[in-house]
Amino acid sequence: MPVGLVVQKYGGTSVADPDRIKAVADHVAFTRNHGNDVVVVVSAMGKSTDNLISLANAVSNIQPGREMDMLLTAGERISMSLLSIALAGIGIEAVSFTGSQVGIITDTIHTKAKILEVKGDRVRDALSQGKVVVVAGFQGVSTDSEVTTLGRGGSDTTAVALAAALNADVCEIYTDVTGVFTADPRIVPQARKLQRLQFDEMLEMAGVGSKVLALRSVEFARNHNVPIHVRSSYTWEPGTWVTTDASEGAAMEDPIISGVVQDASESKVTVIAVPDRPGVSAALFENLANANINVDMIVQNVSLDGSSTDITFTVPRTDLARAVQRLEQAKSDLKFAEVKSDTNVAKISVIGVGMRSHAGVALKMFETLAGKGINIQVISTSEIKVSVLVAAEYTELAVRALHTAYELDAA
Ligand code: ADP
Ligand code: ASP
Ligand code: MG
Repeated sequence: MPVGLVVQKYGGTSVADPDRIKAVADHVAFTRNHGNDVVVVVSAMGKSTDNLISLANAVSNIQPGREMDMLLTAGERISMSLLSIALAGIGIEAVSFTGSQVGIITDTIHTKAKILEVKGDRVRDALSQGKVVVVAGFQGVSTDSEVTTLGRGGSDTTAVALAAALNADVCEIYTDVTGVFTADPRIVPQARKLQRLQFDEMLEMAGVGSKVLALRSVEFARNHNVPIHVRSSYTWEPGTWVTTDASEGAAMEDPIISGVVQDASESKVTVIAVPDRPGVSAALFENLANANINVDMIVQNVSLDGSSTDITFTVPRTDLARAVQRLEQAKSDLKFAEVKSDTNVAKISVIGVGMRSHAGVALKMFETLAGKGINIQVISTSEIKVSVLVAAEYTELAVRALHTAYELDAA
């Protein structure tokens, strides 16, 4: 293994209990003992972030963002100190820091803050003293000096941002699968591990909701050209490299479609009988944007009689209640009839750079779903992606059928 600066991020399952933390300490020690400088980013243990959210839900349904961030950052603080203690136990000098302590400066949007700057001075100092540095993932400190979190899965972003700031040789993302697959291996047993993937493809996969890497981490990696190696914390087998150019070496075997992605985290909102005149859509979506609610897929029909039309779109399920509330408040101004919502939906996407030069990819998707009797509710496309919204109960059937139809199944 070449000597350098390695940032290693371990996800929740990888540090779920004391034995796993000790196993991670051994893994870190191995890397360190081969002469590398190591910065470790840890997630909260197991399901502890979910458990903290459940505690908040049990106490109140009004949850100030600042207080949620104070609560949720506690999860990563436990794992960072336990890992440092485990490292001390095997003779490795380590020091843990919170996001705030290492100068991960964010904007002021609680629960989904964006990183503005990474100072990293304390990390550099500790590395120069020969220590392993353990950083709590998923958190930073805002320009208002408040503790913030980076959105679910945000420890990936911490790791890549630190790797960029420290000019690390690689950012290793250790998780509970052996790499990035052509589909979620928990849904499609025949999914194949991709050896290499381009940032653009990984960006689309993460953007349509693949859990394996958080979207912002991939944006950061692409913008700062940080090579990511996604691999298992249980073995030393090589995982998936996400880099600028995947064309060298054993590139993706199938150039048209590289993966099928499912996302169950969105909900559908339909605004009924919206007046059909210029400016109404803008006013409607401005309302949501002002509340920091990201709208994803959108469909609007032409009105048949020229007076009103329905607009359907998706929002993160965690923002649904706020979105509906915002729209209800705007109802008298915008003069639409009613807002309906549906949480029983899943977004299914196919991704691949080869789509740029191949026609018929979307058609194959629609035909395959039709063949299984699956109704498509909303469609959206980009240059290298086609997404559809279907009823949630069809998720597995749709992903498996598409994986087979695009000939991705392992032999
Ligand atoms: P961590 O806690 O390590 O951050 P996550 O649960 O966030 O782990 O992400 C890893 C999970 O992502 C895997 O367990 C797998 O079920 C899921 N996943 C979804 N799509 C893919 C894919 N295409 N390749 C690999 N894993 C995927
Ligand atoms: N613990 C946080 C979460 O569960 C962050 C992370 O694991 O990346 O979302
Ligand atoms: Mg994750």
